[in-house]
Amino acid sequence: MGLTLRDVLVLGTDFLKKKSVATPRLDCELMFAHALGMKRLDLYVRYDMPMEEKDLVPLRKVLARRAAGEPVAYIVGHKAFYGMDLEVGPGVLVPRPETEVMVDEVLDFFAGRPGLNRMLDLCAGSGAIGLAVAVNNKDVSVTAVEIDDHALAFCRKNVSTLGIRERFECLKGDLYEALTPDNTYDVIVSNPPYVRSGDWESLPPEVKAEPKQALLGGPDGLDVIRRIVTGAGRHLNPGGMVCIEIGDQGQADALQEMLRVQDFRDTRLLFDLARRPRAVTGIR
Ligand code: GLN
Repeated sequence: MGLTLRDVLVLGTDFLKKKSVATPRLDCELMFAHALGMKRLDLYVRYDMPMEEKDLVPLRKVLARRAAGEPVAYIVGHKAFYGMDLEVGPGVLVPRPETEVMVDEVLDFFAGRPGLNRMLDLCAGSGAIGLAVAVNNKDVSVTAVEIDDHALAFCRKNVSTLGIRERFECLKGDLYEALTPDNTYDVIVSNPPYVRSGDWESLPPEVKAEPKQALLGGPDGLDVIRRIVTGAGRHLNPGGMVCIEIGDQGQADALQEMLRVQDFRDTRLLFDLARRPRAVTGIR
């Protein structure tokens, strides 16, 4: 008796479990569907499909990559974020579901203020935050700034796949240096690098496989955040909002204090679905 698709899913899941992968079954399904050119749900429809030796070659390949610590998103080349399917790969940060709280917050902000419609996304990476806002509010136009060419290429690709090129501009550069002084916005949003240098070694392997530049924010993790806050006044319209992702309560406290010093009011801490501190907002 040969193996069926069901059997190889079980075997693959066991293999990843032994390699201490956190979500072995899910990872297996996503990678096998990709390797077999099928939709994930079709795996269940084709459960009894016999697998020949030649069919197993691509499956072994993706399992080996995952076991070596590569993120699933890099192996399959895309990642779901806020109902979109974004193209990602080595060289760009993988969008995280916890970042979606910032999208909700920004969409609420724009919904309550019909006159406001310009948003700046700093350290945009694949473009996830800006794309989610632009796709879900057709009045908003987005400028995304990203320092890394590889990441920016993913962002551009996602913009054209989603068909929103006329409302979404991608600029290469180091934060505000990509802009001219008269470029002002109603919202400045960012998921900047904020991992403390000292925490790098303790990160899981699939996170360490992501670009260091997208993760590391100096000794206290706040190097880039400080520059974002200091420069925000020059590029934010009156009544505008900043919304910046952070990693923990300590960084949240520090960021709220930085914003108050820069004359922001109504600073607020947003929690993600796991009830961890995830972003800070402020109005100016
Ligand atoms: N949330 C990411 C992590 O946990 C960090 C992302 C970032 O630095 N912006 O590793």
